[in-house]
Order: sequence, then structure tokens, then C-alpha cells
Amino acid sequence: MIEVRNLKKHFVTKNSLFGDEPEVIHAVNGIDFTVGNGETLGLVGESGSGKSTTGRLVLRLLEPTSGSILLDGKDISTISSRDFRKIRKDLQMVFQNPYSALDYKMTIEDILIQPLQIHKIVPPLEYKTEVYRLLDLVGLDKASARKFPHEFSGGQRQRIGIARALSTKPRFIVCDEPVSALDVSVQSQILNLTMDLQKEFGLSYLFIAHDLHVIKHVSDQVAIMYLGKIVETGNSEELFNRPMHPYTKALLAAVPGQGEHKLLGGRRLEGEIPSSIKLPDGCAFHTRCPYAMDICKESIPILTEREGRKVACHLYP
Ligand code: SF4
Repeated sequence: MIEVRNLKKHFVTKNSLFGDEPEVIHAVNGIDFTVGNGETLGLVGESGSGKSTTGRLVLRLLEPTSGSILLDGKDISTISSRDFRKIRKDLQMVFQNPYSALDYKMTIEDILIQPLQIHKIVPPLEYKTEVYRLLDLVGLDKASARKFPHEFSGGQRQRIGIARALSTKPRFIVCDEPVSALDVSVQSQILNLTMDLQKEFGLSYLFIAHDLHVIKHVSDQVAIMYLGKIVETGNSEELFNRPMHPYTKALLAAVPGQGEHKLLGGRRLEGEIPSSIKLPDGCAFHTRCPYAMDICKESIPILTEREGRKVACHLYP
């Protein structure tokens, strides 16, 4: 349904310390992936890996530097804003922070009516019925319609955020860290709700998270991002059971109970993610990789099919 080809987003900023020389932030640096109908692709990586920028690019909340985004085979990265507005309702987003994503001055009814009006989803006479239907879908009662966002808990606000995303009857939703701001006790309720809604409406998700438990729970396919590139991608169960890329192993090793010693063969992941302004030569992970070889400092590994998945690493020539 959604296909992304060689997508790049570079931000040019001014170097405030040394005058005129512009700096280029390589936020997304040439990625490819597909999300099928009714499927979830989990996008994982540390903060600064480019996963949230990717979500915003797919919804055209940011303009790509280059590459294409295809919806049902049609490139939507280059169409005019006017044409994009016609398909905007098919593509929605659930935001990370349910506190700031809702206008605190509006009632829940007004928040949910707004997209119904803009995209002409139902006639005005049916607004109220539709608002109640949306609230019911996300497990909230009719009385919620007259309340304001501050009268709800974090989990309930995220339910309202999901109801707003559903209001336009979308086919594809970017879920950008939708549970990371919530208490652990309500995280699984929200995750189960998103999965139930997916089954009911055949939704496709690009699910962005840094928590591997969350990604494993919801994803059919997984893509691991590091410094703007996908370094490993494949079926969720296979990838989590048998990670191949050292960075995937390092992320899994950091999950309590996984055992860093076992996954990384007794070696440790060193340092922090480098700046995306001056990317390391060769494999961008070589400055931290416990398996780095001489070739890794010079040659960029290509994402290549290996044993039923794709991996970018010189360990798999
Ligand atoms: Fe490590 Fe080299 Fe593989 Fe990069 S290419 S992940 S540095 S072994």
C-alpha cells in the first residue's frame, strides 16, 4: 500500500560558531520500505536515528529532499498540495504526546468534529452520532464529548487522539511513539486497542518506537534504523529471535533479561550515536561496533537480501 524508495531528508542549517559555512543534518539518508494492506511495520532506533522524521515525511508533514513515496503505486511525494489534500484523509497520525496533541480550549466533541467538517466525512446533521461512534470505538462514553482534554488521564487522551485519527476513515496511520509518554500499566491497553482497530478496519500502521517490547508486540515486519539508514529489516518474529546486524543485537541486548553477553558474544556496545552532521565514513556504525573490521571504516555496506531478510553489514558479504 505504502512504498518508500530511496527517501532522503537533509536539513541545512547555518553554523553559528564559524560564520557562513552551512551544515547539513542527514536526518534520513536513503531508505526503502513497504507497508502492505492491514500490516504493521515497526520502525526502531535510538533517538536521532531519523525514525520520527521518516513518519513525518510519509505524511508530507515534511517535504523530502529526494526519493519517492508511493500510495497504491502513485507517487504522492511530488503531487501538488491541492491534490494531496484529496488523499490526506487516508493518511493519519497518532502523536507521541497526548497532552500537547489536543487543543486544551476545545471540547472533545469540537476536536472530533473538526476533521469531519474539513474532509466532509458525514453531513452536519450526523456529526453528533459520528462523535459518539468514534468515542465508543476507543472505549469512551458519550459524556466524554462535552468535556475538555484536561479532564482525562493520559491513556484516555491517547484514546481521544486515536479517535481523531480514525475520524477521517483512514487506511494508513503513522503511530509515532504512541505509548512512550504513558504509564506502563496503560501502555498495553492502548497497544491492544490499536491492534483491535487494525483488525476491524484493515488499517496499515507505520509504528515508530524505541521500545523493542512494544515493537515486537505489534509488528508484522520490522526495520531497524541507525543514523538515517535502515540497517536490518525483516519479519518481526524471525528478526527478534535471530538478529543478524550488530546494532540489532545491541538493541536487543539492552533489553533487561536478553543478556548482552550472549547476544554480542561477550563484546560491548561503546559510545553514543554520532552526530548526523558529520557521518562516519564507511559503515556509520563502525565507531561503536564491537565487530568492526578495516573494511568497515572505508566501505558503506549495502542493504542486501540474506537468509530471508535484508541486512547491511560486511559480516555478511
Ligand atoms: Fe559492524 Fe562492520 Fe557490520 Fe558495520 S559493517 S555493523 S562496523 S561489522
